[in-house]
Amino acid sequence: MALKIIDECIACDACTEVCPSGAIECADPIYIITPTLCTECVGYFENPESSCVKVCPVDAIILDEANPETLEQLLKKYQENSN
Ligand code: SF4
Ligand code: SF4
Repeated sequence: MALKIIDECIACDACTEVCPSGAIECADPIYIITPTLCTECVGYFENPESSCVKVCPVDAIILDEANPETLEQLLKKYQENSN
């Protein structure tokens, strides 16, 4: 599933620099993740961990439990977005 940003976001911009898919953008009042671009970092790294989660100082980036995706779906999204 894609990740999402919750209200705790302090708009520090740390996450945009580490996102390999360009899924995170500055919005008002908090940043947002485009779910069609976020692959949970699957495909971009050999051992994917969500880069944005690791750098967020206020734990404002979480899994969007309402929109589950399988590993196969995330890889397909990566491949489509890389073309
Ligand atoms: S999990 Fe990875 S691809 Fe998704 S928004 Fe975070 S850094 Fe970008
Ligand atoms: S790193 Fe966290 S607090 Fe900073 S802009 Fe991203 S979601 Fe918001």
